[in-house]
Amino acid sequence: MTDSTKTLCPYCGVGCGLDVTPPAQRGQATNRDSEGRPIWKVRGDRAHPSSHGMVCVKGATISESLDKDRLKYPMMRDSLDEPFRQVSWEDALEAITNRMRKLLVTKGADAICMYGSGQFQTEDYYIAQKLLKGCLGTNNFDANSRLCMSSAVSGYIQSFGSDGPPCCYEDLELTDCAFLIGTNTAECHPIIFNRLRKHHKKNKKVKMIVVDPRRTETAEAADLHLAIRPGTDIDLLNGIAYLLMQWGHYDSVFIDECTAGFPEFSEVLQHYPPETVAQRCGISIADLETAARYWGESERVLSLWSMGVNQSSEGTAKVRHIINLHLMTGNIGKPGAGPFSLTGQPNAMGGREAGGLSHILPGYRLVKNPQHRQEVEQLWGLPAGQISPYPGRTAWDMITGLETGEVGLLWVAATNPAVSMPDLERTKAALKRSPFTVYQDAYYPTETATYAHVLLPAAQWSEKTGVMTNSERVVTLCPQFRNPPGEARADWEIFAEVGRRLGFVEQFSFKNSQEVYAEFTQLTRRRLCESTGISHERLQAHGPIQWPCQEGEEIFTAEAKRLYTEFRFPTPDGRARFSAYHSRGLAEPPDPNYPLVLTTGRLYGHWHTQTRTGRIPKIQQMHPNPFIEIHPRDAKPLGIEEDAWVEVRSRRGFARFPAKITKAIAPGTVFVPMHWGALWADNAEANALTHPQACPDSLQPELKACAVKLVPVATITEGEQFQPAVDQMFSSPLSV
Ligand code: SF4
Repeated sequence: MTDSTKTLCPYCGVGCGLDVTPPAQRGQATNRDSEGRPIWKVRGDRAHPSSHGMVCVKGATISESLDKDRLKYPMMRDSLDEPFRQVSWEDALEAITNRMRKLLVTKGADAICMYGSGQFQTEDYYIAQKLLKGCLGTNNFDANSRLCMSSAVSGYIQSFGSDGPPCCYEDLELTDCAFLIGTNTAECHPIIFNRLRKHHKKNKKVKMIVVDPRRTETAEAADLHLAIRPGTDIDLLNGIAYLLMQWGHYDSVFIDECTAGFPEFSEVLQHYPPETVAQRCGISIADLETAARYWGESERVLSLWSMGVNQSSEGTAKVRHIINLHLMTGNIGKPGAGPFSLTGQPNAMGGREAGGLSHILPGYRLVKNPQHRQEVEQLWGLPAGQISPYPGRTAWDMITGLETGEVGLLWVAATNPAVSMPDLERTKAALKRSPFTVYQDAYYPTETATYAHVLLPAAQWSEKTGVMTNSERVVTLCPQFRNPPGEARADWEIFAEVGRRLGFVEQFSFKNSQEVYAEFTQLTRRRLCESTGISHERLQAHGPIQWPCQEGEEIFTAEAKRLYTEFRFPTPDGRARFSAYHSRGLAEPPDPNYPLVLTTGRLYGHWHTQTRTGRIPKIQQMHPNPFIEIHPRDAKPLGIEEDAWVEVRSRRGFARFPAKITKAIAPGTVFVPMHWGALWADNAEANALTHPQACPDSLQPELKACAVKLVPVATITEGEQFQPAVDQMFSSPLSV
């Protein structure tokens, strides 16, 4: 193949368009990776509606990771103590299907689990749902999106009656006031931030509010930075709403005609006068009033949030109280306004459409809804009642299922739970107990491969054809433009092959991913995420397409679509719902033994657990080491100086980092990046410290906050070992 290929960046949910050309195009210098291999040249696709040709360092360097440390052949071993031996696909798939058959007889389908990824293309997601939820009859498919944005999903469903971010990126350039809460957009969604920042700089009247305990690059650019105490988001949101009510900045017509539950919400607000809120949040009354004034005086307010809101034991309530502000001011369904969740992974949105969490089904359907199950069973050609009415195991429930012995087969694909799950020592201990773990990935080694019995080599982005949906509901075709290494296969092909071997030949008789996508879109008909007007052929011909898009609909790529422009919502009465909730604060608040709150986050250059970016020298040089940010007020009494090694201890584990003493972090809070697993540094795993307590609605763990103490390493005496606290908060398996 010699022509350039238009595709999508496979890193984050911004979803930037890329234009990729082969290593040796005539008239071009050949780019080479650090080991001298020719690499594909990547630049931004100017025609892509979401990114207009912009890319960040991750997108720009993606091709450097494609040939490094690839898993090329299936491997197996009988126990974790043995080395892997190369096997044929036949042997590997026979081992998996034999194990499945045995479990179906001895323990039932619920002993089988799959943990997938927002790195999947929609076709991979869809076939995995059909295999697990349809043919095997267990809803035990969950994805790493559970750790990322499941609170946004449940917040949208509870407030609007359906999942689906109502906004689009064009709103970044049309808003009067951007309210960024729990998102370091400048580093984690850089191209979205570029678009917003340009608009903000050009228009002096446009306001930007950033809510974050850290003074991040995003906060530096704001007109108002509210460095609230971790866990006080709902107090702040209710405090802003209190002032909007008091000052008469609410849209009574919208509230009367388009919403329900306002009286209960206004009753809750009585408890949030400015003095109380400012004191709880640790901010000044003046700053709180400024935030409310910016909201109240703006015609179009756009809220943006990501993991800082979602990764919380009250994540759904936080999302709903952001939405409350939009409902009370009528800031939805119009240009420049709305509650906009920014997804972390490149195709977490496609995963939501395809039913890629343990409580949902394709086409924004719910496992618990009998009509939804019936519709899916019919299209899949399965008998009535085949799909279980019970939500399956979440990511964390799979870990506890290994602890109790209920899980007999764990299949992990395109994700790295041995770094990214909470309470990592407990997670690793559970993985060690797994009787049979299949790990399917493009790379080797990874931390999770250490716990696998079978390794399956996966073709990754660039080596298979499929689609991905970004945060603004734009679907882009990612065509294959290079060959997979060795015997690597597309994820969906592996799942389909297992399905056929289990006897579901008709259900998995797809010739290519084009056919898979065509079948999937049939399940979106008359749903909010309708995509029947989208196909591989149309994407190839027109470029990216935003949903909803019905069959036969003409496509105008220049025209961005918003949801709820007629102010009717997919609830039984067409009204959006207010939430009335009092914050419970953090699941594990600081106390005298563990006096600080640890918050975790991402850095500009790295992606998640470094499976790709750790193999790119330019990015390693940009972020060579993990670190801990400590406020001078917390560092001084402990005698901690810049660059001194600090041991961070929580009730569950410890990690060590060099100190960065900075006023950018609020006193009482410390920050560590979450990118370093055991492969990349010793004892620098942020999740060795975090806990698995989760939001009761979204079941998303509170990865953003736990109680810790600091011990300067220089003061630790020889032989002194870290011991988990006797007062373990969460010692028994959780049923979140
Ligand atoms: Fe890729 Fe996200 Fe960077 Fe865009 S912002 S180039 S999608 S990592």
